[in-house]
Amino acid sequence: MSEPCIISVAITGSVPRKKDNPAVPISVPEQIESTHAAFEAGAALAHVHVRDEQENSSSDPERFARLQEGIRKHCPGMIVQFSTGGRGRALDQRGSMLHLAPDMASLATGSVNFPTIVYENPPDFVRALARTMLEYDVKPEIEIFDLAMLYNAADLVREGLLKPPPHVQFVLGVKHALPVRREIFDFELAELKKVLPEATWTAAGIGRYQLEVNRWALEMGGHCRTGLEDNVRWDKERLAASNAELVSRVAGLCAEYGRPVATPGQARAILKLKPAGAS
Ligand code: ZN
Repeated sequence: MSEPCIISVAITGSVPRKKDNPAVPISVPEQIESTHAAFEAGAALAHVHVRDEQENSSSDPERFARLQEGIRKHCPGMIVQFSTGGRGRALDQRGSMLHLAPDMASLATGSVNFPTIVYENPPDFVRALARTMLEYDVKPEIEIFDLAMLYNAADLVREGLLKPPPHVQFVLGVKHALPVRREIFDFELAELKKVLPEATWTAAGIGRYQLEVNRWALEMGGHCRTGLEDNVRWDKERLAASNAELVSRVAGLCAEYGRPVATPGQARAILKLKPAGAS
């Protein structure tokens, strides 16, 4: 049987606003409801940001705690992944909720330009975040927005700051970062096999490239990310009605490629995470 595909759903993000897509869940109850629907549709992993009342990115541990609690209650076994990125969050705030010990957290291993900002991840900051994740036994998802980040991740493994086997995510299609080109994707995969042969991987395409990158990942044996965070184009074009709709679309693609949709239990086994509820 082919390897089950883990469907990650990035429910909110830091960019889409309600006015551009009313389906984007902003309040914690909306986020829990949207995650639950996506879970029922086949998502095994929720990548989450939280927002304040003005819809701005927030680092408020209290919000992250309520969201995590709701997801654990309503979506048994689902993997919870906190974002340590997000615009408008000060560097020293970005890891301030890791003591809540989510299963995973994102970790970008370098700096890159985003559509309107510099996504700043200086070397010392990356190492401090990696150390905090080790301390709370949070598995990082290495975010590869640009090629150097892959080699930086391999350095972190060598330095003992990242527990093997690592999990990486290739992100294509963010304006000013790597474009959606098959040659780049194939090169990234080939390099991954050389520098982090034991790694598992996911690929994410932004905006209208979401589906295309999902197909590439399925074809090459990787895992898929979808969700409104990536779907609402940063030029505000609207594309989807809900996170669940996007997850269903990927679940349909999995069938096309002969890949079963991973259950949360399978996803935990593939990523070498503890079973749900174990401490
Ligand atoms: Zn995110």
